[in-house]
Amino acid sequence: MALDIIGTIESCYPDKFGIPRQPGLAPSATAVLRLKAPFDHPDCVRGLEQFSHLWISFIFHQSPERWTPLVRPPRLGGNARVGVFASRSTHRPNRLGLSLVELAGIEYDPAPTLLLRGHDLVDATPVVDIKPYLPWADSVENASAGFAPEPPPQLDVRLSDDCQRTLSERPDGASLGALIRQVLSQDPRPAYRRDKRDDRGYGVRLHDLDVRFHVETDNHGHGHESVIVV
Ligand code: SAM
Repeated sequence: MALDIIGTIESCYPDKFGIPRQPGLAPSATAVLRLKAPFDHPDCVRGLEQFSHLWISFIFHQSPERWTPLVRPPRLGGNARVGVFASRSTHRPNRLGLSLVELAGIEYDPAPTLLLRGHDLVDATPVVDIKPYLPWADSVENASAGFAPEPPPQLDVRLSDDCQRTLSERPDGASLGALIRQVLSQDPRPAYRRDKRDDRGYGVRLHDLDVRFHVETDNHGHGHESVIVV
């Protein structure tokens, strides 16, 4: 059975690198879901505006089709392995992803486009379904979450004077600054880089900006880490 692509994501994340590993971790992330024919008829989304959040089913189109039974979740430091179905890995059979996102609005121009927030999707992600989130059915109090019982730890983010100046000159500077902080506080570096002294510079693309950063560790590598944005 073949799946139809019902629409495509236009994302604030041009590249995979730096995207938080689940939705909701960067609430300032924005995207547009542009529906395509025949799914772009206004009837298809009639009533959807009454819901604050949506489930988006999509294809990990930038992941290879090959998959393996065991994967190494970044949450476990990138070494320990768990079953692919015990993970949210992007390397999986059928390459199907599922994200809970905020619906910020629907625009009709004249076909409907959905304005999304807090997502974790790279630009051009193909979408195969949309469903409204039902808090009374979809959230479980006291659920156990195995090796990922809570959100990942966050780093402090410090913006350089140059970065703050650049942001202050843009009309979207405040929201962009919030997005930079939220994304970099997740520490986008590969898991194997995290526990070592790391003098490298990195870059994350957000909207039209190439955000350069490095990580500094206080207390000679034993203590607190901060992301410095250049
Ligand atoms: N919330 C979804 C899920 O659980 O199915 C995605 C989780 S997955 C661990 C999140 C990562 O997928 C992001 O950090 C990003 O790097 C990657 N990603 C997002 N869109 C993608 C796409 N279209 N193809 C491949 N990887 C993608």
